[in-house]
Amino acid sequence: MYDIENFVRDLGNVPSATDPRTIRAKSRDAYALSPLLRKTLQGKTADLVVSPRTKEELATVLKGAAKYKIPVTARGNGTSQYGQSVPLKGGIMLDMTAITGVLWVKPGAVRAKAGTTLDEIEEVTKPQGWELRFFPTTRKHATIGGFIAGGTGGVGSINWGVLRDRGNIRAVEVMSLEERPRLVELRGDDSRLIHHSYGAAGIVTEVEFALAPAGNWQEALVAFPTYGQALRCGVQLARESGIVKKLASVYEWPITHYVQPFRPLVPERSSIVISLIGEQSVEDFRELVASYGGKIVSESVEGEGPYNRPLYEFSFGHLNLQVQKTDPMLTEVEGLFRSDDLVGLIERVHTRLNGVGPLRMELRRWDGDLVGSGSPLINFTDEARVADIVRILQQEGVRVANPHASNVRGVGKKEIGEKDIALKRSMDPAGLLNPGRFEVSSASDAKIEKHLPTDGWVRRAS
Ligand SMILES: Cc1cc2nc3c(=O)[nH]c(=O)nc-3n(C[C@H](O)[C@H](O)[C@H](O)COP(=O)(O)OP(=O)(O)OC[C@H]3O[C@@H](n4cnc5c(N)ncnc54)[C@H](O)[C@@H]3O)c2cc1C
Repeated sequence: MYDIENFVRDLGNVPSATDPRTIRAKSRDAYALSPLLRKTLQGKTADLVVSPRTKEELATVLKGAAKYKIPVTARGNGTSQYGQSVPLKGGIMLDMTAITGVLWVKPGAVRAKAGTTLDEIEEVTKPQGWELRFFPTTRKHATIGGFIAGGTGGVGSINWGVLRDRGNIRAVEVMSLEERPRLVELRGDDSRLIHHSYGAAGIVTEVEFALAPAGNWQEALVAFPTYGQALRCGVQLARESGIVKKLASVYEWPITHYVQPFRPLVPERSSIVISLIGEQSVEDFRELVASYGGKIVSESVEGEGPYNRPLYEFSFGHLNLQVQKTDPMLTEVEGLFRSDDLVGLIERVHTRLNGVGPLRMELRRWDGDLVGSGSPLINFTDEARVADIVRILQQEGVRVANPHASNVRGVGKKEIGEKDIALKRSMDPAGLLNPGRFEVSSASDAKIEKHLPTDGWVRRAS
């Protein structure tokens, strides 16, 4: 279908692979977390994998793609869970993991090449007294380019908000897909145009990201006799400006039953708060927990708890992964709970969804406000039932994004304005970057997923 032979000839020394095993492995991401995407994305593969090592080699790839009109899907380490690095129209799988390295660290900021993993970035910044403001729970593997282009936020978002909040991404350098590829530096507000664009508005080559002072962190798993106590304690912990923390997530019973390493630790019927606390705040944290009737069932230095992995690998996107080890059909929608009475809103939803499935809730900042991002865990055998649950959430004032979609508009975590469209047109005039994921016209976006009645996550401020 595409002139791969001549494209490869023009590549010169740029590494490429056409063996089916490599192609299959690199054409997948973590979309299997969604039972719906499992069905719709299965079997979609690229025609070859290309792994440039420098910007010059990347330019050779993009020039060839423009010349032979071959689609290009960028890939970091393929940990995204909306299937957004799966090539819908075949073509070139652009493996960015060889373009790697930290370029500089300054007080409060780092600049790194797109294929650098978040762990690799902190290996350089921590000895200098700085750490990432927040990170996805996939930080061991996730690249900074993939995080900017495909992610949202994560551990630390309780203090610093999410990628789209002003000041977190300081600058992004991107390359266009044209016969003469251009490098464009987007700074400040403009850098957010690339966020959540799924590699369809330019290939990220470098990222400048804001940092926070490095801390020493303690993990704590806390059990509460009732969901109400866990919820109140979690929200209060998030609000306590004097307690240094990086994570506060509230999970209703029986989530702990599904998460195997928690089972021996947490009493039957208990709901939990999982948290990361600055070591200087542990005493205050213990007092707070006791005042809500909670019991700390496990406490340790970050990464040294009895779970065989850091405690944060049971939060955010990882909670689904852990739960699915017990029940592969359990999944979620993505609700944004935002209210001056956050506890009241979550409790109303909890009451209305009684019996649907236990609630998970990540507490974080979003657009300046403390919010909850969460969902009931749902057995996804009946799509109509999931749509009913989305409607109930919406009736209570919760905005809902769709993790069972695979394009930018379908997922609904990016607001698309004129500047986004102008950038897309300019960086990808032939529409070859990750086609179907974010087109100039919504009518051209891929229609491969069932549509839940979701309405996306919007910001108050612009
Ligand atoms: C278990 C689990 C937990 C997760 N937890 C979180 C979480 O806490 N927070 C969160 O935000 N996300 C989370 N995710 C999603 C994902 O891990 C992150 O968004 C991660 O940062 C993606 O990085 P990656 O290098 O694997 O990117 P990939 O998956 O390879 O790519 C992500 C998207 O970016 C595009 N892309 C990749 N590199 C580039 C580039 N250089 N230029 C342009 N486009 C590019 C790809 O085409 C794709 O659309 C989770 C996923 C899983 C499976």
